[in-house]
Amino acid sequence: MAQRFALMIVPADVSDPREDYSGTFTEVDVQAPALSVGEFSSQRGDGVFESIGVVDGHPNEVEAHVQRLAHSAQLCDLPEPNLVQWRQAVAVAAARIPDGEGVVKLILSRGVEHGPAPTAWAMASPAPDHSAVRRTGVRVVTLDRGYDLGAAERAPWLLLGAKTLSYAVNMAALREAHRRGADDAVFVTRDGFVLEAPTASLIIRRGDEFLTPAPSGGILHGTTQLSVFEHLESRGLRTGYATLTSSDLATADAAWLVSSVRLAVAITAVDGAPLASDPALTDELNAFLLSPR
Ligand code: PLP
Repeated sequence: MAQRFALMIVPADVSDPREDYSGTFTEVDVQAPALSVGEFSSQRGDGVFESIGVVDGHPNEVEAHVQRLAHSAQLCDLPEPNLVQWRQAVAVAAARIPDGEGVVKLILSRGVEHGPAPTAWAMASPAPDHSAVRRTGVRVVTLDRGYDLGAAERAPWLLLGAKTLSYAVNMAALREAHRRGADDAVFVTRDGFVLEAPTASLIIRRGDEFLTPAPSGGILHGTTQLSVFEHLESRGLRTGYATLTSSDLATADAAWLVSSVRLAVAITAVDGAPLASDPALTDELNAFLLSPR
């Protein structure tokens, strides 16, 4: 049985030419305190993170994840991460989950007040068993995100395209979905466009085309959505980014929420109305997503 594992990282400068950063990693006891009470990650949620799916010790889509970490850091004016160091940290952490499904989480925080540098760490743990939800799918409700589609461009300080540690709103949306008798939520802009789920990207099938909301609308560019599109394209299917309304979701021929650890789950109902699903394609997508990428 794989154990939880944590590694504190002394973040290296982006211009550091080293090839081996093992000297900057310190394994810490996951049960023991490791962060200062002055940490801005815990005080303000001021930092960025990534969650990487691991299958039998292999971390999937590492490059897309570390590149998105760098993009989130840039949006938050954090020092540019040294990606050679982060790739090595991912490899060290993933090796600690040699069997079954797991997750490696990377965290880059603003650090402590007057501290010398940002704080960085990586964690590895076995993933929850998502096999049932991959079969049954999820019922979603649409929830107002409170801003319009132009907000991301108009107000970059909202950090809408960054994967920041401030997930309190995302978790509140999931609780609201549960209160409404659903399993998950899809955020909708004030002007009626669907965005993403609190922890997953949305893909719909309309006819023979697979569509996802464009990341320019202030959503995360999902690494799983990118992988799924590559897979669909390799089968000769059409994919694209689009501005999709709530009614595009409600009238889709099928729809999925996709993310790095839960992988692909079919949406079976939207706001209480059943939605068609395609179990064979869902199985195919998950078999692909569980293979080394
Ligand atoms: N959108 C949000 C808000 C997320 O939190 C996540 C993943 O956690 C995703 C989309 C999907 O991203 P990925 O496929 O890279 O896991």
